[in-house]
Amino acid sequence: MRLLLATRSAHKAREVARILGEGWGGNLLLATLEDASIPWSPVEESLEPFDTFEENAASKARYFARLSGLPTVADDSGIEVDALGGRPGVRTKRFAPSGRYPDLSRDEANNRYLIERLGHVPMRERGARYVCVASFIDPVSGETAHFRGEAPGRILREGRGTGGFGYDPIFWDDDLRRGFAELTEAEKNARSHRGKAFRAFARFLVDRL
Ligand code: IMP
Repeated sequence: MRLLLATRSAHKAREVARILGEGWGGNLLLATLEDASIPWSPVEESLEPFDTFEENAASKARYFARLSGLPTVADDSGIEVDALGGRPGVRTKRFAPSGRYPDLSRDEANNRYLIERLGHVPMRERGARYVCVASFIDPVSGETAHFRGEAPGRILREGRGTGGFGYDPIFWDDDLRRGFAELTEAEKNARSHRGKAFRAFARFLVDRL
């Protein structure tokens, strides 16, 4: 089966390829947007306007399934912080106001901004969770399905570790007593929101055969 993995994030693509590779021994040919020769378009900036991860993931999957004609899976993910009433949620990628930290990358700016927003909130009140929804669409049969995974954690006061991406340097795992950026890829995938969502998706693919 040829499956389009609709993401422009090399980090996400790498994690998903590994999770699906382990979750499904079958004959899965995972194509990235580059493999399918789908060039970037400005339309992609407007595919995630919704208030739920499910709607945004489905919107991305639908768009790329239509373009490619392939069964497609897309992921929408983010972080929900208890002390911020669940924000930034679906707005995680663009959390830091643009231009606020001109010298920082987007990930660095988001981490800095989240630390600033939490200020002196004590560790016991810095609970958060990563959320990932994988949305699958078969453009021929019209079949659609969603798979949600969540990973609980805590927001650190400063970054630690060099692995992962995004908010991983400031995301603490209470059970492992390490930050997500301090985990190996395999350890992160075993615990992460994306690991949980895509392992559920892999089980669905196996059952569907
Ligand atoms: P999306 O591309 O709309 O799904 O944006 C996801 C946002 O959540 C980006 O800011 C990512 O950096 C962040 N994010 C999603 N998954 C992870 C993860 O596994 N680790 C760290 N940050 C993540």
